[in-house]
Amino acid sequence: MSGGTVVADQSLQDELNPFLAMAKRFDVASDHLGLDQGVREVLRTPDRELTVAIPILMDDGTTRVFTGYRVQHNFSRGPCKGGIRFSPDVHLDEVRALAAWMTWKCSVVGIPFGGAKGGVICDPRELSQGELERITRRYTASIMDILGPDRDVPAPDMNTNEQTMAWIMDTYSMHVRRTTTAIVTGKPIAIGGSRGRTEATGRGVMISTREGMRRLGMDPGVARVVVQGSGNVGGIAALLLHREGYKIVSISDMYGTILNDGGLDVPAVMTWLKEHRRLEGYPEAEHLANKEQLELPCEILIPAATENQITSRNAERIKAKLIVEGANGPTTAEASKMLDDDGVMVVPDILANAGGVTVSYFEWVQDRMGYFWTEDVVNSRLEQVMATSFDDVFGVAKEHDVSLRIAAYMLAIDRVATVYRLRGIFA
Ligand code: GLU
Repeated sequence: MSGGTVVADQSLQDELNPFLAMAKRFDVASDHLGLDQGVREVLRTPDRELTVAIPILMDDGTTRVFTGYRVQHNFSRGPCKGGIRFSPDVHLDEVRALAAWMTWKCSVVGIPFGGAKGGVICDPRELSQGELERITRRYTASIMDILGPDRDVPAPDMNTNEQTMAWIMDTYSMHVRRTTTAIVTGKPIAIGGSRGRTEATGRGVMISTREGMRRLGMDPGVARVVVQGSGNVGGIAALLLHREGYKIVSISDMYGTILNDGGLDVPAVMTWLKEHRRLEGYPEAEHLANKEQLELPCEILIPAATENQITSRNAERIKAKLIVEGANGPTTAEASKMLDDDGVMVVPDILANAGGVTVSYFEWVQDRMGYFWTEDVVNSRLEQVMATSFDDVFGVAKEHDVSLRIAAYMLAIDRVATVYRLRGIFA
């Protein structure tokens, strides 16, 4: 009996391991491509992993040592690109998976970057602004040797923002003795950030939702949309979809879920969140526990919070016909199979949330040119990249009779493998 429990726990643990989840999809896509064994080995393995100790003098006078990571999965197509997250749950396999997803994401949308990711194990809710600044600066100094506008360019991710990027940019610039704006993206506009970058991931999710709906022949005015999350991805996607005439029936934050079958007044919800910092108490809605949200009756589900939300434990109770992955890795490989069998269309993370890194690329280009674009130019170029990439992925899915996720991996892996074939293996 207890042996059985251990095995069951082990299989759930494996299911929830993001790197294994990435590797499973990678293997399926590589089989479809008939990928050479050697290249397969290369692309499965992260190029470089750095773990650093970050000693910090806390406000109360004590010293604490935090742990930070930067994983560079692959830089064959260009400098590494990827965010930095601050969270108590950060672990190396997660950062590895997120780094690999960045390689595939940049490749799917055809921007000339490889993939990386960073993380610091800390709980930002328990840290003062000063402590956060010191962590950011010391972490940056510790990983600086592998950063650079032509080497590895960080960006915001979970619990990091424009301010974090400004500190990274300043720390790097002070060390190299010149202002280097292209060292990070997602910076404030005043120091070389791009117009449209803050909204870019949410805007990409909105475009992916629209493209998915079109393929399914759904009517935006009728479809009920459930958005898990209300931050930079979920909140913005909900606002933009609302503006386009979609009916958003549910939104959540870390603490709870709100539901209004008639459709939420999304701008009012966002104003409430700004003022109260939580959805709790929002008047024009029912309040539910978060675990109920994903199973709500709806046509479109946008998981835009974190990994491992749709698993083998809840996949069969999901009612949506279209799932658009705003978060990285919200669906486990086992759950993906169940959803595919049920005929649910899933727009995978490496396509659906690629709007952020696409405008990061635009930001890097603008920094290097020293010439900045209007918001309209940024948005229309983003629109073009997202719509074309969706078409490309949809085409591969049709041609090979695979899910959009496997099609996206196939497209991405094939582009990186082509680079290896052309460049050869350095010796
Ligand atoms: N953190 C975002 C992502 O996961 C953006 C990365 C970037 O812009 O480099 O896609």
